[in-house]
Amino acid sequence: MLSVAQAEALILGLVQPFNPEQDSEALNVSGNVSGARGRILARPVTSTLNFPHWDNSAMDGYAVRFEDIQDCSPEHPVTLEIVEEIPAGYQPQRVIGKGQAARILTGSVMPSGADTVVMQENAQRVGNQVTLQIAPSPGAFVRRQGEFYTAGDPLLPAGLVLQAPEIAVLAAAQCAQVRVYRQPRVAILSTGNELVEIDQPLQPGQIVDSNQYALAALVAQTGALPQGLGRVPDDPASLKQAVAEAIASADVVLSSGGVSVGDYDYVEEILASLGGEIHIRAVAIKPGKPLTVATFSRQPETGTTLSIPPSSSPLLYFGLPGNPVSALVTCWRFVQPALRKLAGMPQSGWGPTFVTAKTRTRLSSDGKRESYLWGCLSLVNGQFEFDLVRGSHSSGNLINLAGTNGLAVLPIGKTQVQAGELVTVMLVGSP
Ligand code: AMP
Ligand code: MG
Repeated sequence: MLSVAQAEALILGLVQPFNPEQDSEALNVSGNVSGARGRILARPVTSTLNFPHWDNSAMDGYAVRFEDIQDCSPEHPVTLEIVEEIPAGYQPQRVIGKGQAARILTGSVMPSGADTVVMQENAQRVGNQVTLQIAPSPGAFVRRQGEFYTAGDPLLPAGLVLQAPEIAVLAAAQCAQVRVYRQPRVAILSTGNELVEIDQPLQPGQIVDSNQYALAALVAQTGALPQGLGRVPDDPASLKQAVAEAIASADVVLSSGGVSVGDYDYVEEILASLGGEIHIRAVAIKPGKPLTVATFSRQPETGTTLSIPPSSSPLLYFGLPGNPVSALVTCWRFVQPALRKLAGMPQSGWGPTFVTAKTRTRLSSDGKRESYLWGCLSLVNGQFEFDLVRGSHSSGNLINLAGTNGLAVLPIGKTQVQAGELVTVMLVGSP
């Protein structure tokens, strides 16, 4: 059985990130903040605009010629004539000559002739005259054209994830359309005769297919597009057909259930019969041991057509365990990083994120597998602290997972962590 680290390395090794040419599309930024947020640039962006676009004032004050006021002092004040008012959005009309100044506001265009701004707190204005008693440094409070960014230089690199600052930069630079990676399509199917929909009355023995919801949310969180394929009964023919359809319509397929060694666990043999190459059958992780990972070549078999664009990455199939907590933990630990790599995100963003925390509750494990214990992480005086959530830590108990934000990780061989000791915690929400 593979260790968690071995499985992680193997899975990430199977993923070929999207190709910037083949797997990208145009994104309209204009009026489309929600569509742009989280998308990843497939090409670097440059702008034809300088930032600032023109020399402008960093202060409310007076635009002056440094040489006129360089020697002013309380003993030798200098009085200048105000020849123009320059509010925001106004193009100055006058050239500032000897003994002249312009009233200027933050961000407004510097008038020609002036090279320095005196903040209004250091000026006394009477009518159209301003008196200065403190000599500024030359060029003070002037933001020079191109000082922040020079037109034609690289503005944003490929691989950057578009969040508020990046979207604002694109808007400011008038980049109304950019090239981004397409979003990975992730088919999700649930196996099990016992599963019903959220609004179906439960008969004895039935449960709701909650994994469909959990996995769709985790897929969407990475920026990929979940495609819910619903529930498939535990019969080999139906399952084979559902898997065949899923692998023809997605970049990644997630199924849950049917991967352990029960009498109705058919997933692995079906994957093999459809030409899948099985890379992982089990991982030493708790919860989540029965994890199947397979790949399918992207070449369609004769007679079949792929309904998605060709990709250089093979189709990745994750047969996740059915137990609701196991499905979530294996998705956090293995599936989400693979999706982020596929989507074109730089390695630093693949995740998961681990932090060191002081546990406030004693943690225990049988030490046989790497154990993930769910609880709440908080930041106390600059240090992370972890509380194990109360209640059952059975992989079948989804209920007390709600509201948690971290999973304490106990490596193989570690059976106890005492309260007050440090432990590694995998972040699954905001601390
Ligand atoms: P399996 O791996 O198919 O043996 O399933 C293990 C356990 O997880 C069983 O108790 C199943 O009822 C439960 N389970 C399987 N699939 C789901 C699902 N989609 N949603 C909620 N629970 C499930
Ligand atoms: Mg099952």
